[in-house]
Amino acid sequence: MLRDQDRIFTNLYGFHDWRLAGARKRGDWDNTKALLERGREAIIKEVQDSGLRGRGGAGFPTGLKWSFMPKEVGERPHYLVVNADEGEPGTCKDRDMMRHDPHKLIEGCLLASFAMGAHAAYIYIRGEFVQEALNLEYAIAEAREAGLIGPNACGSGWDFECYVHRGAGAYICGEETALIQSLEGKKGQPRLKPPFPAGVGVWGCPTTVNNVESIAVVPTILRRGGEWFANLGRPKNTGTKVFCISGHVNNPCNVEEEMGIPLKELIEKHAGGVRGGWDNLLAIIPGGSSVPVLDKATADDVLMDFDSLRDAGSGLGTAAVMVMDKSTDIVKVIARLSRFYMHESCGQCTPCREGSGWLWRVMERMARGDATVEEIDMLFDVSKQIEGHTICALGDAAAWPVQGLIRRFRPAMEQKILERNRAAAGAAA
Ligand code: NAD
Ligand code: SF4
Repeated sequence: MLRDQDRIFTNLYGFHDWRLAGARKRGDWDNTKALLERGREAIIKEVQDSGLRGRGGAGFPTGLKWSFMPKEVGERPHYLVVNADEGEPGTCKDRDMMRHDPHKLIEGCLLASFAMGAHAAYIYIRGEFVQEALNLEYAIAEAREAGLIGPNACGSGWDFECYVHRGAGAYICGEETALIQSLEGKKGQPRLKPPFPAGVGVWGCPTTVNNVESIAVVPTILRRGGEWFANLGRPKNTGTKVFCISGHVNNPCNVEEEMGIPLKELIEKHAGGVRGGWDNLLAIIPGGSSVPVLDKATADDVLMDFDSLRDAGSGLGTAAVMVMDKSTDIVKVIARLSRFYMHESCGQCTPCREGSGWLWRVMERMARGDATVEEIDMLFDVSKQIEGHTICALGDAAAWPVQGLIRRFRPAMEQKILERNRAAAGAAA
């Protein structure tokens, strides 16, 4: 279990003042100039040494992503874009960081932007996060007033501005290239990759898009050292992570823990355990709605990190742990997720536009038992034709929950069909 002194988000629950005075007491903005004076290469190397992997869901190594930015700033300015469009169902960690610890994010923006040669950072925040946007605006104004950002930020000689841009509630605008389109004032639809944003990003300029948590941990990594961060967690899955635990637990919460903590321990220590006890557990979605569901047998032993969850047939995703006890109709849950993805599909590519609607309609029938057993295999086949055949990951996200359901809970689907057939036969008799 993570020691208190190794926690990065010490104000996660909002017990302390989130404004500059409170943030300074917690060590934020402490001689940031000295961190900047280490130089761009040294900052990137420290982040690489920390092993930090992106906290938005995909787990791409952050330092490596930064190293893709052109070394020299030519005619095209460089930009940092912070993805604060936290829309993944079950996920609410970035919201608390921005509400209770906005200065960590702003200081991280300065350090990351400097390392990548960017004089400006845009924080693209989900439109529904009204209070968080207000807190961020307030904290940015405080930092500017104190000379921490703006011209000659922290007395470093580096000019840096930070802007908050509010989204309008489309899930797809959390996809980095759709976010870039939206930031440019266009319809938020994903672009084909490559080119990746480091080559062609906002307004065609080199851009790095990072999640809120990935940027907010950077000042602490630089102060305490990449090695300190790398010694937490497990190899290739280092550091601390904020987990969002919701559903049928006694105490739903956001909690910062060490990567690789056993899932059962995470829930029992921090969320007061599963309602009715661990044996009353039916299923867990461990990383936000886009990753496949786990059954209890898998959840018993799995560790909460990128590689362990991948090996278990799911994913860490956004680390949003959704717990379902035995009272849950798991087929209905996944049907509801199918509806969500169908609704949020931007409609650009046929497999996602048509396939997500198709999945939803069949899943609705499955939830009623109004289907045939053979259709379960057909459902799986269709999901396979969506997966990997679309412009962005939303197509995969629509396919994976359905695949997870069929892999782990096929008997529950068959049971519904059987019961419906029995009831129909009884009515006919
Ligand atoms: P991705 O794997 O395509 O990319 C991850 C990051 O790595 C991107 O920034 C991408 O530009 C970069 N990258 C990957 N390969 C690269 C290469 N060869 N060269 C340069 N850069 C490269 O994944 P994604 O579509 O960005 O994210 C998918 C994840 O997002 C899902 O796993 C899901 O968990 C998560 N998600 C999160 C939210 C949220 O609210 N935080 C919402 C929806 C989905
Ligand atoms: Fe749009 Fe879906 Fe294609 Fe993504 S996969 S670009 S959301 S249609």
